[in-house]
Amino acid sequence: MSHFDVAIVGAGMVGASLACGLIDAGFKVALVEAGHLNSAQNWPSDDVDARVSALSLASKNLLQNLSAWPLIERMGRLQAYRAMQVWDACGTGQLTFTAAEQHLPYLGHILENRTITSALHQLLEHKQYHLYANSQVVDMTVEESSPRRLTLDHGEQISATLVVGADGANSKVRQLAGLPTREWDYPHHALVTRVKISKPHDDTAWQRFTEDGILAFLPLPTPTDEAKNAHYCSIVWSRPKAAAEAMQELPEHEFCAALGRAFEGRLGEVLATDQRHVIALRQRHAKRYIQKGLVLVGDAAHTIHPLAGQGVNLGFLDVAALVQTLVQAKADHLDMASLSVLQIYQTQRRGDNLRMMALMESFARLFGNPHPMLSMLRNTGMNWVQKLSPIKQHLAQQAMGVGAHLPPLSQAPQPEKNII
Ligand SMILES: Cc1cc2nc3c(=O)[nH]c(=O)nc-3n(C[C@H](O)[C@H](O)[C@H](O)COP(=O)(O)OP(=O)(O)OC[C@H]3O[C@@H](n4cnc5c(N)ncnc54)[C@H](O)[C@@H]3O)c2cc1C
Repeated sequence: MSHFDVAIVGAGMVGASLACGLIDAGFKVALVEAGHLNSAQNWPSDDVDARVSALSLASKNLLQNLSAWPLIERMGRLQAYRAMQVWDACGTGQLTFTAAEQHLPYLGHILENRTITSALHQLLEHKQYHLYANSQVVDMTVEESSPRRLTLDHGEQISATLVVGADGANSKVRQLAGLPTREWDYPHHALVTRVKISKPHDDTAWQRFTEDGILAFLPLPTPTDEAKNAHYCSIVWSRPKAAAEAMQELPEHEFCAALGRAFEGRLGEVLATDQRHVIALRQRHAKRYIQKGLVLVGDAAHTIHPLAGQGVNLGFLDVAALVQTLVQAKADHLDMASLSVLQIYQTQRRGDNLRMMALMESFARLFGNPHPMLSMLRNTGMNWVQKLSPIKQHLAQQAMGVGAHLPPLSQAPQPEKNII
């Protein structure tokens, strides 16, 4: 049976970036992925991943430090956003954040998820590690003794000093370890797709809060083979399940008209849409991220409402913190599978993740309630925050992920440091 320092289960954005970071730091790594790695460098311009992420500066820093960012840039499907505009449909409340206010060239970037995984999978092609593709973890020894043994679905077994669950929201590793979660459904399902609009998006991420949901228009680049005056956005429309599914079923012209109305025509007409997908939204947080010889990262540890686009940004911060913890343990000749070492990672990340989840939860509740008092409160609150620059600055810094205690992998590479 092969033995590894670290066995990472899941090669999504979080697991693949962790693999890159740990291999670069000299660990002997196995990566187990239920699907296959996809290192395609381009796709037809009309073939667009409906799943996109708004990446914070901290996430960009991590991808830069891992050398994935130049590969992402080369794919030419990257859109910087320089402003965020948030408003309440039931009043006059409005909040605007701009890169200029932050003395930055941009607030973040919008990317198709698969461009991120593809860049990381391209990097992995040139690294020394063991890949178990098309392999699902189906069993794991959970006794206290280290190392842990994983059984894959085709019967093979591997052992590792440390197992990392990076296997997403329904983490098998988390279940096999018996790590409990606190979880509940949001009253929302998210309808996601790409739409063509008649007016320029002005490099702005737009978000409209309505009585029954939240509608986000995220700017996308114009495909290179299209006229410069073609404009595209990715939409995330979080609504009650029945409403989201009804919208998915509408004929295209009716859907475009309804979407344009719901967005108050701010970006002109909605001219066309790609295939529409509906995703159930569930809040989930593992009560513990660690056991002896085992640790959770990314959606395996926490899933949150996409309203502030923070899910994978938190996952990338987990990656940076775990790499830092394990590198330090190695330098200090400590047992990296021990609870005392893994506790350092958990302490660093759990509080941060909980704070962000609580903030998103209160936004979702505050804006999901049609009560007139609450409507007045949130409109007043928005306008108040807009005028009060220290609070606005704090919220902007949270969204950009540029807090004071960033682990090294999330910090700007030296030449760019002075832009933050
Ligand atoms: C509508 C929507 C919009 C969002 N927008 C944003 C945004 O703007 N910004 C942001 O930061 N986040 C956003 N998120 C959240 C973000 O998409 C997730 O946080 C992110 O995809 C999680 O990545 P992950 O690598 O942890 O998990 P996943 O992407 O789920 O990857 C898990 C991997 O593990 C593999 N796997 C699963 N089980 C096994 C097994 N038993 N054995 C082996 N392999 C296994 C899977 O095949 C997969 O490759 C959004 C989410 C939603 C739903």
